[in-house]
Amino acid sequence: MANQSLKMARAQHGDDIAYLLMQDQGGQVLASTVPEVDGTALSDPISQVALHSDELIVQDPPDEELGLALYNESVYDVAVPILDHGKRVATLRLGVSSAGIRSRVGNVIFRGAWMAALALFAGMLLAIAVDRKMHRSFRELIGVTRSIAEGDLERRVSIDTGDELEELGHTFNDMTEQLAASRQELRQWGEALEQKVETRTHELEEERQKLSAIVGGIGAATLLLDDQQNIQWANQTAYEWFTQSLNLPALPCNAPADSSHGRCQGCATAKVVHSGKVQQCDTVFQTVDGKRRNFRITASPVLDHEGKVTQVVELIQDVTEERRMEQQLLQASKMVAVGELASAVAHEINNPLAVIAASVERMQRTPLDADPAATRAKYKGYLDTMQRHVYRCKGIIEKLLSFGRHREPSWESTDINHVIHEAVGLVVPRAAADGITVVTALAADLPIIDSDADGLTQVFVNLLSNALDACDYKGSIRVSTRTDDDEAVIAEVSDTGCGIPAEAYGEIFEPFFTTKPEGKGTGLGLSICSRIIHRLGGRIRADSPAGSGATFTIILPKDARQREVVA
Ligand code: ADP
Repeated sequence: MANQSLKMARAQHGDDIAYLLMQDQGGQVLASTVPEVDGTALSDPISQVALHSDELIVQDPPDEELGLALYNESVYDVAVPILDHGKRVATLRLGVSSAGIRSRVGNVIFRGAWMAALALFAGMLLAIAVDRKMHRSFRELIGVTRSIAEGDLERRVSIDTGDELEELGHTFNDMTEQLAASRQELRQWGEALEQKVETRTHELEEERQKLSAIVGGIGAATLLLDDQQNIQWANQTAYEWFTQSLNLPALPCNAPADSSHGRCQGCATAKVVHSGKVQQCDTVFQTVDGKRRNFRITASPVLDHEGKVTQVVELIQDVTEERRMEQQLLQASKMVAVGELASAVAHEINNPLAVIAASVERMQRTPLDADPAATRAKYKGYLDTMQRHVYRCKGIIEKLLSFGRHREPSWESTDINHVIHEAVGLVVPRAAADGITVVTALAADLPIIDSDADGLTQVFVNLLSNALDACDYKGSIRVSTRTDDDEAVIAEVSDTGCGIPAEAYGEIFEPFFTTKPEGKGTGLGLSICSRIIHRLGGRIRADSPAGSGATFTIILPKDARQREVVA
């Protein structure tokens, strides 16, 4: 049976198998394809190795003749142990011809080589086809990319390679579409922006023309200066007034002034650069017609985003006429005030004159004595009375003269309490005659300040005269002073008179406003007071609570002379 099986196996594999045999553990051949060795025990070296190996073993053909029909120089012995529960029970041995194997391997190699060559050729053809297609696709992609770069967003790629390249093509087309949409959007924005810029430019031009008309038409010279006081721009009026000396650009701002004049004293622009606040100063410039005129300069800062002054705008107003009017007004008002005062004190002067006249008459009627000493003794009483009243008249007239004298305000150390004493002294006679009490409550600790005593006397006399008028032969007037931390001197003139009518309240400081009967009031008193106080750096205000008379308050600063006049 085993023999048969072995023979069938050998028959199937032909010349490849030289022999097949099965041996027991002792080496006896149980079955084989070689009849000579059947039933014999093989002990040759190849059989020994084969019988003792626990795993498949292949032995080279023997180098020498072993005297067995099994072996020859081209047969490899393959021994396979047959195990039962891990224990060898037999060994199957094959004699494999190396010539058969070689011919089979050769066949396999030959077929393999053919197959490889065919595969290579097919691969080459495929590669060439794929390469051509990819090239076309890439060329198309590059072409479309170039068109896009040149601004043609209408072109699309059409790649149908069915792979990632096609997908890339789709993505590329999507991107081109988005690009086209974005470009369209940008174009619309650009058009809208252009429209807006055009509208804004038009508006700005209109604004510029308006501004230029305003700046040109304000009747004042306007300069724009840098922080070194060099002129950067000037309006038409500036050219008209100062054109001979105005040589833009970047001319120092003393250029408009008389060349010998230099920079204005207390240059407003320099102060603005230093303080960052609006400043004002008055000065005299020589204009193109050779006349020297009064100008008021108001300098305003132009600040950058950090609040630093980068430029200054100077508004130069010609105040020559205003000044002249002021002077005239001042003079006129002083004359009026003198007139009023003269009439107010006339009866006071009248009294001493009457006394003097009476004394003279009595002296005339008194007969002379033979003894000169007796005569002198008789006359002495009259002479003393006359002298007293003459001096009184002289005092009043001196005050009137100093009050009416035209002069520029003079800054001097001023004791406001003393000024009030003087002013009260001037009106007390009239107050007494009218039956009106004048009381003073003056602060002992009032500081001496830089001011104008005569100007202030005029102010207080005006206020007191008004108070007397308002009291109308009854009531009282109170003049008080005090000081506080912020202001140097606060003076109040209060009366128990008729008070200020509500409808007149906003106008009482206006020139020529009066509620007094014709021939009595001129309406100049308070406007003069207001102007004097402002020139002294102070403020004046009126209060008149219903039914309780009126109070005029004057506030004078400590450092009025040095204080910047801030617009
Ligand atoms: P005038 O005294 O010549 O009228 P003023 O300028 O001095 O001119 O005063 C203007 C007006 O202010 C007065 O006519 C009066 O109506 C009002 N006024 C001024 N002082 C007082 C006061 N103490 N009480 C009431 N009214 C006053």
